[in-house]
Amino acid sequence: MFDIPPRLKKILSTVREFVREELMPLELEFIHDGFYAVEPVLNEKRQMVKELGLWLPQIPLDYGGLGLSLFEHGLVSQELGQTPIGHYAFNCQAPDSGNMEILIEHGTAEQKEQFLRPLLNGEIRSCFSMTEPEHAGSNPTVMSTAAVADRDQYVINGHKWFTSSADGAAFAVVMAITNPEAGRHNRASQILVPLDTPGVERLRNVSVMGEAGDGWASHAEMRYVDVRVPKTNLLGQEGHGFAIAQNRLGPGRIHHCMRWLGICERAFDLMCRYAVTREIAPGRTLADQQTVQNWVAESRAEINAARLMVLETADKIDKEGHYAARDEVSLIKFHVANVLQSVLDRALQVHGGLGMTDDTPLAYWYRHERAARIYDGPDEVHKWSVARRILQSYQ
Ligand SMILES: Cc1cc2nc3c(=O)[nH]c(=O)nc-3n(C[C@H](O)[C@H](O)[C@H](O)COP(=O)(O)OP(=O)(O)OC[C@H]3O[C@@H](n4cnc5c(N)ncnc54)[C@H](O)[C@@H]3O)c2cc1C
Repeated sequence: MFDIPPRLKKILSTVREFVREELMPLELEFIHDGFYAVEPVLNEKRQMVKELGLWLPQIPLDYGGLGLSLFEHGLVSQELGQTPIGHYAFNCQAPDSGNMEILIEHGTAEQKEQFLRPLLNGEIRSCFSMTEPEHAGSNPTVMSTAAVADRDQYVINGHKWFTSSADGAAFAVVMAITNPEAGRHNRASQILVPLDTPGVERLRNVSVMGEAGDGWASHAEMRYVDVRVPKTNLLGQEGHGFAIAQNRLGPGRIHHCMRWLGICERAFDLMCRYAVTREIAPGRTLADQQTVQNWVAESRAEINAARLMVLETADKIDKEGHYAARDEVSLIKFHVANVLQSVLDRALQVHGGLGMTDDTPLAYWYRHERAARIYDGPDEVHKWSVARRILQSYQ
């Protein structure tokens, strides 16, 4: 159905081999000991990725990336998603990839020099600070964080949480109300805040399913107390914060779906390998059980169908833009998140007690990817928005 050009086939096979040979052997250390424990060796792997010419697959050629289309990146991302550290090694991990994209699109020349260039080089990390504990993140037009103009500066005060990867990041893109009198979609702006600015406090890494994590693999609670940044740190125009956030979330959602397909493939592979080797009686393995056979067949069908939906959406975005594909993005966001959950659950069940341990990556993904149905819009919000538009066409 989709043609894969020879250049991309070559890239995909190199990425696949790199993931298997260089990254998978590190993943259990990452899961057991945390991000900082493997960061030095991951930096060496990043250097190897640069030397292979595969750095920044999703970024335009002008900015030093591979210039892949979204469709092409989807196929690469599926390979990288097979290990929890794949995207990081290629510098296309959330939340940095989204921040790169909005800086490319909306950043001034100075902002690109100060924030984007080192981010693209992999010298620094970043985070995106929008959600607040006091308000429903599903409706981010309601927020308390304010940025008040004081001559040539903004003074920011606010409380955020789930600022992923803030631990060790050099800067945050902070959503704050700058125009309280404006309509609800025009009140907020995005402001670039270096995290070493006085008044920025990282209160804790929030424990998620029993793990606070560290570094890139963490989600922080943040307080901004009288944080002063120059007005030149405004990203885009004042009051355009939500428009830029939508700009960021559209590609962000499809990037997640592509990564989840990778996780599904790996979980499927682990499930099948285990099923054919685990003897439940002499000469009889799990693979001989019809329940397991059903899970294998159901998972294969669900993953294949999900992949078609994701690639078709990516293709539509490449040809017609994000706005034209907003329904498809909502559909894949909740659908693939649920396929991911089913496939992971079956793979974990097939592994029995081993599935509950951290001797495979399954339990790590089971803990951390439950959030797939919540971040970047909970399932219910995507279903509501897409169903509303479908039903409108009948009225
Ligand atoms: C692991 C993780 C990482 C995250 N990373 C970031 C980040 O980097 N930066 C950032 O700013 N935020 C981040 N978030 C926050 C995330 O975007 C919010 O959690 C999400 O938007 C939901 O907001 P909420 O948690 O306040 O839930 P609420 O908005 O309070 O919603 C609670 C529940 O209510 C239901 N619900 C909500 N609205 C509707 C509706 N209209 N119809 C029906 N049901 C509804 C849903 O089931 C939802 O799960 C992250 C969250 C997680 C879990």
